[in-house]
Amino acid sequence: VIEMQKVNKWYGEFHVLKDIDLTVSKGERIVICGPSGSGKSTLIRCINHLEEHQEGTITVNGTVLNENMKNITHIRREVGMVFQQFNLFPHMTILDNLCFAPVWARNMPRDEAEETACRYLERVGIGAQKDKYPGQLSGGQQQRVAIARSLCMNPSVMLFDEPTSALDPEMIKEVLDVMIELADTGMTMICVTHEMAFARSVADRVIFMDGGEIVEENTPNAFFDNPQVDRTQKFLSQIL
Ligand code: ATP
Ligand code: MG
Repeated sequence: VIEMQKVNKWYGEFHVLKDIDLTVSKGERIVICGPSGSGKSTLIRCINHLEEHQEGTITVNGTVLNENMKNITHIRREVGMVFQQFNLFPHMTILDNLCFAPVWARNMPRDEAEETACRYLERVGIGAQKDKYPGQLSGGQQQRVAIARSLCMNPSVMLFDEPTSALDPEMIKEVLDVMIELADTGMTMICVTHEMAFARSVADRVIFMDGGEIVEENTPNAFFDNPQVDRTQKFLSQIL
C-alpha cells in the first residue's frame, strides 16, 4: 500500500529524514518509536504530503506523490490521519465535525453523511454525544471522535501521531481500545507511539528511528526482548 524509497528531507540546512526505505503492505500494522526530534512525525506527515520530501519516491496505492495536485488529492483520500491534538472544529457539534469533509470535499448528501457518521460514532462509543461540542467532551472522547472522523472518509490507511500522549492516563486505554478494534478490522495502520504494550499486542513490525534514520526494525517481540543496536537498547532502557 505504501512504498518509500530513499526518501530524504531537509528543513533548510537540517537533514531531517535520511534515506528512508519503508514498505507497508495491506493490513499491516506498523509502530514507529524513537527519541524526540528523531523525525517520526515528519516521516508520517510526508506520506500524505503535510510535509514535502525533496528526494526519493513515495507511492501510495500505486499513486506517486509528486507536485501533481491531482495525485496529492488522490492520496489524501486514501490516507486518514489522527494527531496528538485532536484538531476538531470547536464551534461545530460532533456530528457536524464528522459530516463536514464528506459533504464539502466529497459532495456526499447530508443524510448519507450523517448515517455514516452515526455508525462510526457508535463504533467508537460516542453515539450519545453527537450533538455536543468538542469542548464538552473529555480528551479521550475527543480523540475517539477524531478517529471516527477519519474513518468517515473511508481511508485505506490510517496514520496516528502519538494519539494518546496528550491524554490523562485513565483515558489512554479507551483510545487504544478503539485502535485495537480498528486493527482487528484489518485496517492498514502506521502508529507513532510509545505505548509499548500496544506495540507488542498489535504491531506486526516495530520501527525505531533516531537522527532521521530507521535504525532498527523487527517484530515486536524480537525488538523489545532482543534489540540489536546500541541506540535501540539505550532508548528502551529509558522508556521501559
Ligand atoms: P517528537 O517525539 O518530539 O514528536 P519527532 O520524532 O516526531 O519528535 P519531528 O517532529 O519529526 O520529530 O522533528 C524532527 C526534527 O525536525 C526536530 O529536530 C525538529 O526540531 C525539526 N523540525 C520539525 N518541524 C520543523 C519545521 N517545520 N522547521 C524546521 N525544523 C523542524
Ligand atoms: Mg512527533
